[in-house]
Amino acid sequence: MITTDLNLVKKALIEGELVAIPTETVYGLAANAFKATCVDKIFELKQRPANNPLIVHIPSLEFLSQVACEIPEIAKRLATAFWPGPLTLVLKKQVVIPDRVTAGRDTVGIRIPKHPLALKLLQQLDFPLAAPSANPFSAISPTTAVHVHNAFQDKLKFILDGGPCERGLESTIIGFENDQAVLYRHGAISLEAIEEVVGKIPVKNNNEENPEAPGMLSKHYAPKTPILLSKEIAKEVKNHSSKKLGLLLFKDSQGLDKLHQVKVLSLKGDLKEAAKKLYTSLHQLDQLDLDLILTEYFPENDLGRTINDRLKRAVKK
Ligand code: AMP
Ligand code: MG
Repeated sequence: MITTDLNLVKKALIEGELVAIPTETVYGLAANAFKATCVDKIFELKQRPANNPLIVHIPSLEFLSQVACEIPEIAKRLATAFWPGPLTLVLKKQVVIPDRVTAGRDTVGIRIPKHPLALKLLQQLDFPLAAPSANPFSAISPTTAVHVHNAFQDKLKFILDGGPCERGLESTIIGFENDQAVLYRHGAISLEAIEEVVGKIPVKNNNEENPEAPGMLSKHYAPKTPILLSKEIAKEVKNHSSKKLGLLLFKDSQGLDKLHQVKVLSLKGDLKEAAKKLYTSLHQLDQLDLDLILTEYFPENDLGRTINDRLKRAVKK
C-alpha cells in the first residue's frame, strides 16, 4: 500500500517488517539494520545475492560511531562536505552490524540520506535502516512510489510516498585503502565534486579488478525490453527500422521523434536534469511493449560518467 503516514511505516519497521522509503537517490527497501532476521527479508524479496552487501542509513553524524569505527580523517571531511546526501562511505563496522548486512565483510557502507521524510523516520527510530534499492535484483531502480508498487505489488505492506526522487541515481560509494579515498561506484555526486574536497583519487568502479564492490559489473539497472547503447543513433535506427523502437537521448531528438517513441532527458543539456529523469524514462519506455530501446553515450564527465556507467550495465547480457 502506498501511504504518506509516517507512523504506520515506523510501526511496521519496529515490528520487524520491510517497508519502502523515499530517498533523494532512489526508493529503498528498508529494514532494521541491527537485526539479521529483518535484513534477511530484504535479500529474499529482492532476490539479491547474499554476497552483495547493503548500505546502512543513519539519521545523523552523531549516530556514526554506533555503526562504524576507526574513521579516517579523510572520511570525516567527506561526511562533513556531503552528508546528508548521496554519498556512501565504506568504513570499519561495529560488531552490532550483522554479517548479513555486510556479506561477511568487516566494513559497512553508510550514509545519511537527504530526504525530509527519510530523515524524519530515521530520527524517530533507535536503529539504522539497511536499504538497497526497492526493485528486484538487476532491474531498473525505482524513482517513484508507483515504480515500487509495480515491482512488488502486495508483497510489500507499506511504501512511504515522498514524491519523485530528487537525484534519481544511486549514491556515490567511497572506500578507504591505507587511509586513501577510493571511488568504488560512480553515483549522484560526481567524481569532480569529490575531488574538490579530497584531491585526485583512484577509481575502482569495476568488479573484475575490484572485489571490494561486488555486484558492480554484473547486469544491473536493466529494463525488460532489449536495450542497445550506441555512438551512432541515426545509423542504428536505420539498422533496426522494421522494429518498434524507443529512444533514450540526452538533449536532442535528432528529428527521430516523429517516427519513434523518444525520451529526451534534458533539452538544455543539463546532466543533473538528465540524471533525475533517467530511470523514470527507462521505466516509461519499458512499459510500451517495444522491440528495442536505443540509447546513446552521454558526455564522459560530471554526472554523465555515472549515467554512462548505468547504461553500460543495463545493456550487459
Ligand atoms: P545498493 O545496491 O545501491 O544498495 O548498493 C550496495 C552496493 O554498495 C554494493 O553492491 C557494494 O558495491 C557497495 N557496498 C556496500 N557495502 C560495502 C562494503 N562493506 N564494502 C564494499 N562495498 C560495499
Ligand atoms: Mg540497487
